[in-house]
Amino acid sequence: MRDLYVDLVNLPGAPSFERQVKAYVKKAIEPLSEKIVEDKLGSIFGVLNAESKGPRVMVAGHMDEVGGMVTGINENGLIKMIPLGGMNGNVYLSQRMNIHTDSGDVIPGVTASKPPHLTRGDTTADKPLKFEDLLLDVGADSKEHAQSLGVKIGQQVISENQYTVTKDGKKFISKAWDNRFGVGIAIEVLEALKDEALPCSLYAGATVQEEVGLRGAQTAAGLVKPDIFLAVDASPCADSFDGDEISGKLGKGFLVRFYDPSALMHQGMKKHVEEIAEKHNIPYQYYQSKGGTDAARVQLAHDGVVVATIGMPARYIHSNTSMIHHDDYMAVKSMVIALIKSFDQATYETIKSNV
Ligand SMILES: [Zn+2]
Repeated sequence: MRDLYVDLVNLPGAPSFERQVKAYVKKAIEPLSEKIVEDKLGSIFGVLNAESKGPRVMVAGHMDEVGGMVTGINENGLIKMIPLGGMNGNVYLSQRMNIHTDSGDVIPGVTASKPPHLTRGDTTADKPLKFEDLLLDVGADSKEHAQSLGVKIGQQVISENQYTVTKDGKKFISKAWDNRFGVGIAIEVLEALKDEALPCSLYAGATVQEEVGLRGAQTAAGLVKPDIFLAVDASPCADSFDGDEISGKLGKGFLVRFYDPSALMHQGMKKHVEEIAEKHNIPYQYYQSKGGTDAARVQLAHDGVVVATIGMPARYIHSNTSMIHHDDYMAVKSMVIALIKSFDQATYETIKSNV
């Protein structure tokens, strides 16, 4: 992947801790945009063709990643945490995780787990773990020692990254593909379209606090007041387990999220997405989700917004090592750019009338 993405996945940014990611995004989009707009929770957008008479189009990835928050230090120096976002305790057992302090310092640690030698004969050892059951071990010998190392209540705890390219060169393993991927796409979209004559005005950027209930999406929609919104987000693939044809396959194209529990895809938009993908020969797959994206929240802003999630297939998200495929990256990028170019006023009216 381009350095842009490697930089983005390496930054820490649990919900409400997006400061470093936002600073990176701002620096990247300032030279690509006519102006920058920001809401008060931290979402940020670069604007192109602001004076357009066409529809107002918002495109965003979310900057936050799931992570822990320090809630206490035990007398023996081990650290208590709660999850910010959906985190399964069993997935985070024995993982390298770091505390990131406000001053940018990193305190390395590992989530404590009992080796089999210590659980032999313990009938409760196999019970499912909640994330808040885990303790973080930063090597502190006591509570005071942990404090002297800089540990404080309220700090974010983020997976240590191990960005890796697979042997075939086609797949990329990293923390935080959900959703620095979408943030990178928003930046690339501005790069690709900054000198184009667009039929719409474009607000491309990044939201905050998606993982704790789509909060940034709500305030970003209040800021931008879009007619159309594209959420670009990583969605979990089940293809390495017992997946079927609507649970996502790596390398088979972007995801048309026809159903998720919080957003039924707008039928006019679905038709348009299919037409544009066919016209440009962009591979896609239908996807049924059990979760929601920023699109779910933005669709309910003011008198309604025509939304779509352009989904990126990703294995093992909400862990410290997720995997994406280069071909899907190309499909998502081409699709988002093709859609933006297609959004003239007449097309917007047609989409709306097909509800
Ligand atoms: Zn996401």
